[in-house]
Parts: sequence; structure tokens; C-alpha cells
Amino acid sequence: MPGRPRYHLMVGQFPRLDLSDVREVAHGRAAAVSMTWKSGIVVRVEPRNDALLRRCLRLDVQAPANSCYRSAEVRLRRRPCPRGERYAFQCPGCERVCETLFIRWGLFRCRICAKLRYQSQARDPLSRQHDAIARLRRKLDADDEKPKLMRWRTYEAILTELHARQQRLDSTWLSYMPKRLLRTLIRP
Ligand SMILES: [Zn+2]
Repeated sequence: MPGRPRYHLMVGQFPRLDLSDVREVAHGRAAAVSMTWKSGIVVRVEPRNDALLRRCLRLDVQAPANSCYRSAEVRLRRRPCPRGERYAFQCPGCERVCETLFIRWGLFRCRICAKLRYQSQARDPLSRQHDAIARLRRKLDADDEKPKLMRWRTYEAILTELHARQQRLDSTWLSYMPKRLLRTLIRP
């Protein structure tokens, strides 16, 4: 698909640090937290203020001496949310605010910097459209009827998206159909 970066490695293949794992530390409600990844790497996370007194997390990585994993300091950024504010990571590579950091090339990086893709992106465009349509349909009753407790505005928004996705599915299908088959179909 044009415009979409072609990353071949998946997020599941790399150790990750989720904001939910360190939320207590980030908000100063816990002094430190340690976690062990399945490759035996231990990461101890501690709150810290950097030289400019900005809130950071110190990520102490305990890994075999010959490994490339390195400790790091990651800045936190405040982000508004429905109930006040909460912290999120600032990727040390691109400074993008993100909820998950991956260890790639021994460094903590966001998914984009680490050039990783989600499992769902590994599926071909046709299957992705089918998945999206099925997800929308699950929110509705049979025959795309409005569930009793759903607001009309929500229902209409779902229908609009469903319609747009159907159209996209049709055009994706046409662009993926082998040209030869298409010629056969068009020929009288
Ligand atoms: Zn990044």
C-alpha cells in the first residue's frame, strides 16, 4: 500500500515497556518497580528529575555483560486525559509522545523508531478491511439494526463508517484482483 512504511518485524518479537507497567512510578505513587522480560533481562524503573528538573524515568537494565542492552533515562510528558492529566513516555529517538517503548538495537525506542509493525498490519489489505467491518458489525444487532441502548448519534456514526469501509473493501478488492482475471470477466 503506498505511503505505508514496510516494516517486517512485529512488535511481539521485542521486549517492551508499557506505560501501564510503570504508571505508579511515573506518578510518584511508588518508589521503584522491577520487571523481568522473558529473555532474562531485568529492568528496574525509578523516577528521576533530569538536570532541567523535568520528570524522567531511570531505566536500569541488568543484562549479560556481552549483550547490547543499555540503561537509559526516558523523559515523561504530561498528557491531558478525561480525568485530569497523566504521564506518557517521550521517545528518546524522535521525541514523539507514546505509551509503549520497545528495546531495539539495545535502545528504548517507540514503535516507529524501532521500525516495528502490529500483528494486524501483517494481514493483507483485504483481510484488514474484513476485520474492520466485522469489528463494527459486532457493535450492532443482527442486520445492522441499532442495539436498544445505543445512542442514535453513535449508531449513525457506526453506519457511516461501515458504509465507507464497504466501499473501500470493494475498491481494494478490484485493485488486488489479478488483471488477467479481470480481463476474462470483462470479455463478452
Ligand atoms: Zn521514536
